[in-house]
Amino acid sequence: MIRFNIPMKAPDTERYIQEAIESRALAGDGPFAKKCEELIEKKIGSKKFFLAPSGTAALELACMLCGIGPDDEMIVPSYTFSTSAASSVQFGGRPVFVDIRPDTMNIDETKIEAAITEKTKAIMVVHYAAVGCEMDTTCAIAKKHGLYVIEDAAQALNATYKGRYLGTIGDVGCFSFHATKNYNMGEGGGISVNNPEMIERAYHMRDSGTDSYDFERGMVSAYTWVEKGSSYLPSDLQCAYLYPQLLMMDEIKADRLKSWQRYYEGLRPLEEEGRIDLLEVPEYCDHNGHIFYVKCKDNEEREALRLFLKERGIQAVFHYQPLHASKAGKRYGRFCGEDVYTTKDSSRLLRLPLYYGLTTEDLDTVVKTVKEFYGRA
Ligand SMILES: *Cc1c(COP(=O)(O)O)cnc(C)c1O
Repeated sequence: MIRFNIPMKAPDTERYIQEAIESRALAGDGPFAKKCEELIEKKIGSKKFFLAPSGTAALELACMLCGIGPDDEMIVPSYTFSTSAASSVQFGGRPVFVDIRPDTMNIDETKIEAAITEKTKAIMVVHYAAVGCEMDTTCAIAKKHGLYVIEDAAQALNATYKGRYLGTIGDVGCFSFHATKNYNMGEGGGISVNNPEMIERAYHMRDSGTDSYDFERGMVSAYTWVEKGSSYLPSDLQCAYLYPQLLMMDEIKADRLKSWQRYYEGLRPLEEEGRIDLLEVPEYCDHNGHIFYVKCKDNEEREALRLFLKERGIQAVFHYQPLHASKAGKRYGRFCGEDVYTTKDSSRLLRLPLYYGLTTEDLDTVVKTVKEFYGRA
């Protein structure tokens, strides 16, 4: 059986977990949390990076920092994870869904401006498969209309757009360290606060709305409730699991990219014959090998290919169902413009097994089996 994902565990994880246990400091902002945050800040050039209990918690904190409130609108692609949109609904906001581009499955930046109303507060882009959205255009639109930019960079740690790390370009960038992601702590996430005006509030909002941080620095004589907020601090036990993976961040990326490239080269002939479509990575985007997908002719063919692989012990999976057509999406949000690619392309996309340590042998078996399905083995 070739599994779709095997969550990453760094070789010396046990030693770090043991150290965390013995430190008796498993609450938030412990020694490992600080080490992880510093490492990421240095790597991606983040002004301030905070770990969070999940990518979803980071998205909620981002909406809080942007001040999204009742009836405020947030522009977001429909092809994404539920909580990209749900994070705004949490504060009474309304997601306004926009179509995606077929080449990257990212928000179509040319359709953003038409979705702006006087209620729009923020634009949330989602860097699908860690391939950067068109940030220059998006940020220019946001600036012109006085809107915030939130990057859902859940999949995109250690990937760049025109030389800048994803998640550091908008006002805030949100990351996930869920078991399905490249770097994981089981459940976990993080937020890069890039807008300097948001940093102080972020300290308060993530820490139960208190100025406990100012107290620790001796700036106030007692700490109290100063802001809206919640408890967004992961346990140091989880941070200790993540830390050794961050020490080998580039090695993990290189291994995934090697597999990604081998899939690409192996399946390229099928694309040239017009049987499948593959991801087009713009040359100014450096991704991290998070997802490798093929796009079949249609949904029926996708299902046939998925079952064909399953019967041969290969676990391939589809991805997001468009949010605007979901039960909650219809209730809380609306689609703006025409759905040209969201439904069509999401229903023909199939993700192939990809994780750190996937063997060349297994990978070649997957390529061969896909070719077999198309009668090309
Ligand atoms: C994984 C993911 C999330 C959610 O992250 P969690 O850590 O599971 O809460 C949000 N958005 C996108 C695009 C994701 O891939």
